[in-house]
Amino acid sequence: MVKCAWLALSLTLLSLGWGQEVCVPDENCKRPDCVCASTESYFASFDNSLTPQFVILSFDDAVTVTNNPFYLDLLNTYKNPNDCRISMTFFVSHLYNDYTMVNELHRLGSEIAVHSVTHKADVEHYWRPANYTVWQNEAVDMREMLVKYAYIPEADLKGFRAPFLEVGGNDMYQALYDSGFTYDCSWPALQYTNWYGDEPKGALFPYTLDYQSPQDCTVGRCPDALFPGMWVAPMLDLKDNRGEACAMLDACQGNYTDCADQICEDNVFEFLRRNFEYNYKGNRAPFGVFTHHSWFLLDEINESDAHTKGYLRFLQYVNSLPDVYIASMNRVLEWMKDPYPVMDLGSHPAFTCDSFDPITTCPDPNTCNYKEGLPDPGLQEVVMNVCSRPCPPKFPWLGNVDGN
Ligand SMILES: [Zn+2]
Repeated sequence: MVKCAWLALSLTLLSLGWGQEVCVPDENCKRPDCVCASTESYFASFDNSLTPQFVILSFDDAVTVTNNPFYLDLLNTYKNPNDCRISMTFFVSHLYNDYTMVNELHRLGSEIAVHSVTHKADVEHYWRPANYTVWQNEAVDMREMLVKYAYIPEADLKGFRAPFLEVGGNDMYQALYDSGFTYDCSWPALQYTNWYGDEPKGALFPYTLDYQSPQDCTVGRCPDALFPGMWVAPMLDLKDNRGEACAMLDACQGNYTDCADQICEDNVFEFLRRNFEYNYKGNRAPFGVFTHHSWFLLDEINESDAHTKGYLRFLQYVNSLPDVYIASMNRVLEWMKDPYPVMDLGSHPAFTCDSFDPITTCPDPNTCNYKEGLPDPGLQEVVMNVCSRPCPPKFPWLGNVDGN
């Protein structure tokens, strides 16, 4: 194990010299394994107007009885232009996560990805200095629990997002790379958007780290080593209603609360529509709407429904466009490896669907209760719903995924 990591590390160092080389599509970087960082859909052999506009919806943290009905509602309401259900990406962490609900989201065609076991709140002392081993344990243990308790095939768990977007530099990327993850979606891009600055550089498409990344580094430590074949799915910063940049909806601001309901809703809708159109009417880089479900709960605090209504109105708008697909990140990356023009997208292997959903792999859900040995002294009781039997004797946690 250790030997493997060292071998991978030394190979990476060797290839560093190559990093200065310029990435040239179809010459020193060929699909499907290598895609240069680019602001143009150069990789396709068709015109930009035929590039499908992808909208990627993601939700972070535990899937629970509070947020799952909202997710299921979205999945059962919207269909893509080829008449298949939309898909979304869930970056899942462990505490309070309902593994049976995760199984259901996966069954309906959405992507389950990894967001750490502990999701510790202490960014400064835990995530910022985290080394290779911390990242590897957090990512691999969470993946193992999703396999063990939600019955998600390991091969389907490809993506990672760092808690608080605290990108862990080469340590984090090396740990993910060595552990078989194929993409990271934690790295915000500000300069490479279609709106930032007097002369915007253009929004980045996802790319592989075979060559040095041109991306600016706004949060955490960004990798400068090379990881051939490993994807960066840039989180394109949005421009909020104050003109400020934000990588996730939760951080975006602008007249959602201090206004009459209809105006609040309009503000949310206009904010999303404007940002979407930077890409849709521009270079057609995939457009991500990344958030936590708690963003919608602000409506309760504000005694309003502006967030929810504005967001749903945005989805209705993009869903009415014939060349827009709402798709999970893993599917978008499959398209990057093998791009189809929008009129043929319905027959792309990553976008087809059967007329019937697969039967559940979690027919007999199991509820496990824990009152002792919990990771935080403030916790009184934790309920963990799982697909497996019997219940782990102790509450599973980092370094003890079996709960022994
Ligand atoms: Zn989180």
